[in-house]
Amino acid sequence: MANQFCLIASVLLWASFSILSSAQTATIATSDTQLILEAGLAHPTLVSLSVPGQAEWKNRNSEALINSVEIDGKQLGVTWTLNRDASQIDDREIAFIYDSASPHLRLTWEWRVRENYGPIEHQIRIENLEPRGIWVPMQDSLASDWSVDPNTSLQHIFVEKGANTPSAVGTHDVAVKEGYAWVGTSTTYGDLDEKEPREIIPWSLIQRNSTARDGWYAGIEFSGRTRISVGRSKDSLKVALGLNPDPAPFRTRLEAGESFETPIVFLGGFRDGVDGAGNVLRRWVKAVLGNPETWKNPHYPLVANNSWGGGMDVNEEVAGRMMQDAAGLGMEMFHQDAGWFRSVGDWQANPQKFPHGVAAMADEAHKNGLKFGLWIDWTQAGLSMEPGALNARDPKVRDWMVTDLPADWQPEPFKGQTIDIGDPDAKQWVERELERVVSGYHLDMLEHDGYLVAHGCDRNDHPHAAPDPLNKCVYKSWGAYFVDSSNSTDVSYHAVHAYYDIYSRLRREHPGLLFEICNDGGRMVDFGSAAHGDYFSITDTYDPLSNRRAFYDTSHVLPTAMLESYVEKWPVPRIENFRYMLRSGMMGWLTIMQDTNSWSAEQHAVAKEEIELYKRELRPLIRDSELFHISPRPDGIHWDGIEYWDRERRRGAVYAFRGSSEAESAHTFALHGLNADTRYEVRFHDHSSPDRSFTGRELMERGLSVSLAVPNSSEIVFLQQAR
Ligand SMILES: [Zn+2]
Repeated sequence: MANQFCLIASVLLWASFSILSSAQTATIATSDTQLILEAGLAHPTLVSLSVPGQAEWKNRNSEALINSVEIDGKQLGVTWTLNRDASQIDDREIAFIYDSASPHLRLTWEWRVRENYGPIEHQIRIENLEPRGIWVPMQDSLASDWSVDPNTSLQHIFVEKGANTPSAVGTHDVAVKEGYAWVGTSTTYGDLDEKEPREIIPWSLIQRNSTARDGWYAGIEFSGRTRISVGRSKDSLKVALGLNPDPAPFRTRLEAGESFETPIVFLGGFRDGVDGAGNVLRRWVKAVLGNPETWKNPHYPLVANNSWGGGMDVNEEVAGRMMQDAAGLGMEMFHQDAGWFRSVGDWQANPQKFPHGVAAMADEAHKNGLKFGLWIDWTQAGLSMEPGALNARDPKVRDWMVTDLPADWQPEPFKGQTIDIGDPDAKQWVERELERVVSGYHLDMLEHDGYLVAHGCDRNDHPHAAPDPLNKCVYKSWGAYFVDSSNSTDVSYHAVHAYYDIYSRLRREHPGLLFEICNDGGRMVDFGSAAHGDYFSITDTYDPLSNRRAFYDTSHVLPTAMLESYVEKWPVPRIENFRYMLRSGMMGWLTIMQDTNSWSAEQHAVAKEEIELYKRELRPLIRDSELFHISPRPDGIHWDGIEYWDRERRRGAVYAFRGSSEAESAHTFALHGLNADTRYEVRFHDHSSPDRSFTGRELMERGLSVSLAVPNSSEIVFLQQAR
């Protein structure tokens, strides 16, 4: 078999060689995006991007490839030469190979089509063929200089993470004027300091203000320290995506035979504005990055009950009562949040609270017909002396901490000291520990929390670069120690790869296991996490407005089934307010973070109906349909809403929310995505208006009017295309 594969491979190489020798350019395309690529003798170039039917975007930059490496303390220049024989071109993948004879290196500049629609992926790989270790400097994933007419009006759209509390803006739509210079960054631990700019989901969109509202967008499939920059000057629009080069100088170590891979980026063309882009990108993320095993389950996204309603005071009896009530309400999973373990780093059941252990709790959930999920902050060390615990003072593991801890250091109740999982021994411990937890505790879902990717590291015996001894800062926040130095990006590069390895392996060994990505709520919302987990906690603030704001922002780029809102206790003097609270978390994955035993009989009855409505009518739309942002971003005062429209099943829903203003009892939403001349049956679920039918033109131009008598209330309006 091996020989046959070799033969097929060599035939393909000949084919691509002949194409390359006749023309130095190649085209790769999906239905939305066409890229022309050129293999220069010394540099590859992304020549142009075009969206069918729209003016082409021309790029003037060849890719800036690294031009030196460091060996034994000496900088050596690198000269790249195209290797035609090794380069490959086919419909779905183009790889231009560049070699350096001395030092001996190979660089692969690769573009890949993953689906027939949507964006195209790009990555650069640098392989060390020297018989010794080398240091590689910063290599961007993609840097382009688009030629733009100085008179063309452009918008830049980018979206913040919902970390901590969503800010007042969240979704930015900024005119790209002369002199525009913007940098957006993403880490796994940002937004602690309110004075710093908010972190972005690593994605950006540039739109031409034309009638087609066309343009392109790009994103990064990596959870480490990354940045995107956009700058406009005269006829030039410069854009760079990749690892964050600051604090400089970035460098990363490659032993003999090892490779450095830039974070994968994707680049896609669009029309019809940001929702036009989002409707393609969300579908692409589901198909390309999503876990097929997860989407196969028709109950995904599940309705969950989370124990944090009772905080750290949860115990076996409380959890048991919550499970019973959750099952009666029609929920599908019980999610045990923090509060179950002995202490940080000692991930065994607290014997006072859970005398029968975690597996017994999971079995109890299963008996109630519920799946069972568990919170764990698995990179945190504490001070437990129990066997198997991760004790920060244990000499065998002390070096895994990102810095030496002072003698008086104490963990907090559910926060300890992060270990650097980029260290192979630390990673191995985590793999064993998570296998024990998942199998031994009978888990259906594993939620990780806390700063699992080290925020800097002080060690010089880990695989990452050492910190700069003259320029580093070690500080304490929330009881844990962090380090900032020029090695911070490389620390995150190694730790994120370790995180992906750990989760890929867990997925292989436990195919039905769900992963909730939580990093103090919404700090790891990115496309790398999307490729390794199943859903995100999108914010750390759970009132109706924060839930809707975080959803509004994040739903521009990620499948809404992946976007979890925790619905916490909120003042609900009237039943309309109660529905508003629930529905503010019912646009994606719904988790109720309350002890529902405290609800009144009326609230129980309403919640049961709402959960049934979610499962029967809303969830199919959340899984599969297009989404339109049909109002400005929620402010809690005025009205806001979103529209789901499923083209295939020809049905949809509008979620309408009335804010706190006493003055606005009615609002009109202009709908999108309908056929102008087709009629649609419109059904007001709560009967706030009589049902009737409209043409698509009426709904899109005049709009859908909704009237609600009570501030902080809601309606769900169903649309069905007439046969
Ligand atoms: Zn380290």
